[in-house]
Amino acid sequence: MHELSIAVNLVELAVAAADEAGVRQVLAVRLRLGALAGVVPEALSLGYEVAAQGTVLAGSRLIIEPVPVVIYCPACAAPATLTGIQQFVCPRCGTPTADIRQGKEIELVALEAAEDDV
Ligand SMILES: [Zn+2]
Repeated sequence: MHELSIAVNLVELAVAAADEAGVRQVLAVRLRLGALAGVVPEALSLGYEVAAQGTVLAGSRLIIEPVPVVIYCPACAAPATLTGIQQFVCPRCGTPTADIRQGKEIELVALEAAEDDV
């Protein structure tokens, strides 16, 4: 399962970050997930639960913030946000483009710690 290996990496990163911050109990981990990252959020959440067992992340929640796809349109000379991932065309003028500026990220953004740790 592809998502499980991503979850394992994510947990390793978050454990290291918690360690560095001196956090003993993590309540939640916030993640930015691009629409083109090729990851199924539900599968990632399940993988996360498994990977978090036995770490400071055990029992914490994985909060996934979806990141839309942003392309750069050469005709408009401006970035544009796509509403889906089926067609890579500018939503303003319809020009096709493969210049993807955002939407592939799998990015750890924050840890939420238990209050007495802060
Ligand atoms: Zn355009």
